[in-house]
Amino acid sequence: MPRTTRAPAAAAAPSPRWAVADILDRLAPAYGPATSPRATYDATAELVYTILSQNTADFNSIPAYARLREAFADWDAIAAAPTAQIVDAIKQGGLAQVKAPRIQQALREVKRRTGGYDLSFLARMPLPDAKAWLRQLPGVGPKTVGCVLLFALGMPALPVDTHVYRVAQRLGLIGPKVNADASHDVLEAMLAPRQVLPFHMYLIQHGRIVCKAQRPRCGDCVLAQRCPSRQPAQT
Ligand code: SF4
Repeated sequence: MPRTTRAPAAAAAPSPRWAVADILDRLAPAYGPATSPRATYDATAELVYTILSQNTADFNSIPAYARLREAFADWDAIAAAPTAQIVDAIKQGGLAQVKAPRIQQALREVKRRTGGYDLSFLARMPLPDAKAWLRQLPGVGPKTVGCVLLFALGMPALPVDTHVYRVAQRLGLIGPKVNADASHDVLEAMLAPRQVLPFHMYLIQHGRIVCKAQRPRCGDCVLAQRCPSRQPAQT
């Protein structure tokens, strides 16, 4: 019987999940353990904070949120207040004229649909159902949904902010025609549940510190070896 010879294995293309695992392994030493940025917020607080923080840096949205909570006794008071008072409370967060009615409409809808402001029941729902429930609130898009479910309820929903989107695109994880809203599902599908929080946190930090929007520091980047957008060193 002739001996069969085994053809040399072709080098397998890395699966998206393998690529993500490698990216996380390279970023983890730089950015340390990934923890929820607002672990003390319940889901309703995270919902309000995320609406308030849209298009605003943390150093403005955090004090604006604190002022809102100090100025009103509870969520009912915020929902029922004249909108001008909410605008005044959150003005440091920017776009207050837009965000104040959004916050009130979202809170009123939560109250109408649940009878209160406890969203912890979402954690007991299948992830797609929890997402769909939140998406029906006025002014709530996929990033806000991801923040509420991931940060407040520990569910593996990925929020994609401007840094996550830019770095993921430069790394070739999403194509140039995938917009930010669509990127949520595309990227989340590449991640194991335990990878969602570190992926979000590490790509934000990497986007702020190294893979900057204007002048990415590719020479200092631990991902440069495999990054298709790596830029040559400046001379
Ligand atoms: S090599 Fe450059 S473009 Fe690629 S991730 Fe690093 S900093 Fe960003």
